Amino acid sequence: MKIAVYPGSFDPITNGHLDIIRRASKIFDKVIVLLAINPEKNCRFSKEERLNMLVEVVKPYKNVEIDSYNGLVIEYARKHGASVLIRGLRVVSDFEYEWAYAAANEYIDKEIEMVFLMARKELTFISSSQIDELYNSGVDISSLVPKIVLETYTRTRNK
Ligand code: ADP
Repeated sequence: MKIAVYPGSFDPITNGHLDIIRRASKIFDKVIVLLAINPEKNCRFSKEERLNMLVEVVKPYKNVEIDSYNGLVIEYARKHGASVLIRGLRVVSDFEYEWAYAAANEYIDKEIEMVFLMARKELTFISSSQIDELYNSGVDISSLVPKIVLETYTRTRNK
């Protein structure tokens, strides 16, 4: 069974992330979307809020699971029998970061492959931080994020 882990902050999950999940679920037997907890990162949404949104949006995909981890993603992958880490690539600036990430992972464990999926053209400009900026400026983000994300923004507006 080919198991892949798709790690990220998902703060919040966007239609760009969801497209990667949908495509990965067709390639691998099982995909674990991993909320990677980085205590140093100042997130808009709590761990619980991000997990709730993730659980909701992957419901249509029977071979996709959600988990969270407070440590090295590659260590998580190893413990859970995954042989692949998935990342999405949007623009050239993503490449630099992903290249360093891949090099570090290779140093730790050469057996785990990184697989990069190119963002769909129309979703290339979507990032969690951009979504947050647009929302805070009063722009309608409903076509850029799943419905549950918009609901969570509304519910936690006064945070
Ligand atoms: P991280 O903090 O680990 O970069 P993110 O949640 O920002 O977490 O992103 C997780 C992964 O999803 C990264 O590989 C990122 O490049 C990818 N990604 C983010 N937005 C998109 C998008 N619009 N299309 C394709 N991939 C994306």
